[in-house]
Amino acid sequence: MSLIVQKFGGSSVADAEGIKRVARRVVDTQAAGHQVVVVVSAMGDSTDELLDLAAQVSATSDAREMDMLLSAGERISMALLAMAIHGIGASAQSFTGSQAGMITDAIHGKARIIDVSPHRILTAIEKGDVAIVAGFQGMSRESNDITTLGRGGSDTTAVALAAALGADVCEIYTDVDGVYTADPRVVPSAQKIDTISSEEMLEMAASGAKILHLRCVEYARRFGVPLHVRSSFSHNEGTWVLPSPDDQIKIQEGEPLEQPIISGVAHDRSEAKVTVVGVPDIPGKAAEIFGIVAGANTNIDMIVQNVSTHGSGRTDISFTLPIVDGVEALAALGEAQDRVGFETVEYNEKIGKLSLIGAGMRSNPGVSYRFFRALSDAGVNIDMISTSEIRISVVTGADLLDDAVRAVHAAFELDGDATATVYAGSGR
Ligand code: ADP
Ligand code: ASP
Ligand code: MG
Repeated sequence: MSLIVQKFGGSSVADAEGIKRVARRVVDTQAAGHQVVVVVSAMGDSTDELLDLAAQVSATSDAREMDMLLSAGERISMALLAMAIHGIGASAQSFTGSQAGMITDAIHGKARIIDVSPHRILTAIEKGDVAIVAGFQGMSRESNDITTLGRGGSDTTAVALAAALGADVCEIYTDVDGVYTADPRVVPSAQKIDTISSEEMLEMAASGAKILHLRCVEYARRFGVPLHVRSSFSHNEGTWVLPSPDDQIKIQEGEPLEQPIISGVAHDRSEAKVTVVGVPDIPGKAAEIFGIVAGANTNIDMIVQNVSTHGSGRTDISFTLPIVDGVEALAALGEAQDRVGFETVEYNEKIGKLSLIGAGMRSNPGVSYRFFRALSDAGVNIDMISTSEIRISVVTGADLLDDAVRAVHAAFELDGDATATVYAGSGR
């Protein structure tokens, strides 16, 4: 008998029909002889709807109350799924994140898991029940408050439970058949990837491919949890994310084909660009600025510093950050303006980030040229550039992002013959 953790995203439990379909699938898995722990997301776009509601009642949101509000979405799906499973004659119990032993730090809206003690989950599955856990949430021992893990965080709940329970596999069920060479909503000719290394998947997730939450991939890699990303709307084999490079070698043994140079193109619309203009060009100023932004609990992504114009003694520092952190970071910078001595701050949310990812990039010199050529042929102006060993990213205007993604995808011959199926979801 194996233990399987199955996570169903919002699009898979969007309505009563969806919940009944998922119930059937879970019960079938159990009937095939497995112990099943299920993690659910909030129904459809209900997290976004709750956020919209919060914005309507107040312009400023209290982080603690926001977590109380958003964690309710997952609680609705968990209870409904348990009822649907009872409805087809099987037994199931639902648990909130805190009941399932998901202990986090006290940072609302982006809490990190610090301990998982799933005693009640173990008792439930040993008794023969399906255990259903509300994703995306936990509890802080420090504050005794409910926390959430950040948007898309149910994936991370699932992997954390899989690791703590020693599950054989963590299946992430969503509205497409797996991880594709690009978001199939933007590139219909994108192709499904059968296996991907966790290293490449980490870069894809970090670059905005929201098919998997970044911390879910990090967690799976650290604890060696095999991840299978697949659709809840089909029985097709999905994408396996291989936890260690050794697994990659094992899979490739006997296969004469080399891994493709490029595994995919990711894009991200969730970031904004901040430019701190006229920063005194003396040692310590960058440290001061990033200290201020870090104090506002913001994760900085790309950074560019322009050389100061001859003789001006001043420089501009640009960086990108999540739009949701924009207000706080700007307020913190504004407060420190006189002390740091910069001239102004500019802020732009109408940007997009495009990233090309592939482990084969390391040993293939022509990749950057081909990438920039494709963007230039598509008439895309580049605002910022950053690279890692296996990734090149650029920031462009938001309006050109989709065209840019398609151009780069085609330039690296990633287009397939078939149109990728998107089964459900609004892509919101
Ligand atoms: P869920 O509701 O199951 O959590 P998400 O909306 O979080 O689903 O993630 C699934 C979506 O991720 C897909 O519908 C697709 O639009 C998007 N996506 C982005 N990049 C990729 C990619 N490389 N491969 C597959 N899907 C992707
Ligand atoms: N419901 C949360 C969100 O929409 C968490 C998740 O779905 O993973 O971000
Ligand atoms: Mg998701």
